[in-house]
Amino acid sequence: MEPRWSSSKALWERACRSIGGGVASSVRGGVYPHQLYFESGKGAHLVDIDGDRYIDYVLGWGPLLLGHGHPAILEAAHAQLDRGIMFGGGNMHEVVAAERFLGALGWAERLLWTNTGTEAVQIALRLARAHTGRDIVVKLGGGYHGWHDTVLASYMGYGKGGEPVPHSLGQPASSLADLRVGLYNDLDNCASAFEAEPGRIAAVLVDPTSSNTGSVAPEPGYLEGLRRLCDEHGALLIFDEVVSGLRLGLSGAAGRFGVTPDLATYGKAIGSGMAVAAVAGRGEVIDLVLQGAVHSGTFNGNPLAMTVLTATLDVLSQPGVYDHIDALGQALVKGVRMAAIEAGHVVAAHHLGATAMVAPGVPRLTGPDDYAEADWEHWGKHVVPAMLEYGVYLLPGGRLFLSTQHTLADVDATTEAFADVFDSLPAPRV
Ligand code: PMP
Repeated sequence: MEPRWSSSKALWERACRSIGGGVASSVRGGVYPHQLYFESGKGAHLVDIDGDRYIDYVLGWGPLLLGHGHPAILEAAHAQLDRGIMFGGGNMHEVVAAERFLGALGWAERLLWTNTGTEAVQIALRLARAHTGRDIVVKLGGGYHGWHDTVLASYMGYGKGGEPVPHSLGQPASSLADLRVGLYNDLDNCASAFEAEPGRIAAVLVDPTSSNTGSVAPEPGYLEGLRRLCDEHGALLIFDEVVSGLRLGLSGAAGRFGVTPDLATYGKAIGSGMAVAAVAGRGEVIDLVLQGAVHSGTFNGNPLAMTVLTATLDVLSQPGVYDHIDALGQALVKGVRMAAIEAGHVVAAHHLGATAMVAPGVPRLTGPDDYAEADWEHWGKHVVPAMLEYGVYLLPGGRLFLSTQHTLADVDATTEAFADVFDSLPAPRV
């Protein structure tokens, strides 16, 4: 019999000779035993080049909130392909998409288009520095905000705050000179950052749901407290909603938790697989682009991405869409908890909008500290490959992305697979 995933393994070995690290994004190199290669996706399912079919909870690492090949997305993309992919000037779709997206958010006056979450964070920080005339940015431990040098610090496993810990080889220590790391969900800690450097902090950058280290609702009053502290000290509050945007509802975390930031960044799900991202917020801050704050990008606002974004909002605005996602999340969490209890394993499970979390080895997951305690080696090396055998495709860090096209039958099949897999594996480290 052919070994499992033999075509993927062969392509992976071939890729390693022509593509640096064998993967197109370094996080995909951390997938055990190697990344899989896919042939096609439809709805909530993927087919790999060995012909195996999977229920997909990776969803492109977040963007495919509408699943694969949604008819409305295909129709919008096909129509635009015939008219042109790029014009290098204006197009109607960038305007319509901006109006529609601002309408969905409900709190922001203006936006700028860009292509990736990393770029959106970069322009948001630049605008905050331009607006305040200050350089220092406070981020919260456990927050990932893209791969650029000035914020790539202190995320996975570093919920603790303190000195920023560089994350990459080749990242100059000087690039983190203006970064401070605070504690997520801890207002006193943020207040002391302001007191330590009065008048020097340009912005607090927070992923409101700590979506790379927990995907949790913030403690009641936390975001309100950050808003108050920023106002008291003349700093801007920036929400990184690259993951939470649209996954938590049309108005994202700002709408869900009722706290208005000065700026917020969006990416991933807004483009349903197209590379599109945005920074939205107060008009007077965004308008600094008219006064010398540089925001450029060859691909910004291209009509293909823009028309897909508008189609994405059309689909998500239909009644019942988010209720369906909530029902999926609840069924998944219930099934995973049952599976863990029956196997006698300590496993935390919860969902927040269209993002669910399963964390082995911890009784609950409230943020970056608990996240750092979970047994991710057990998850990555044992649970993920075992679930693949059952036709369920999972991310390494315990996050399960849900789409509008998953069904309760998909979720039932998934929780049955979890039950068998937990039963067959040794318990995670507690
Ligand atoms: N912010 C958050 C919260 C993210 O999760 C990510 C990507 N995982 C980014 C920013 C960067 O986005 P991108 O990969 O599109 O550059």
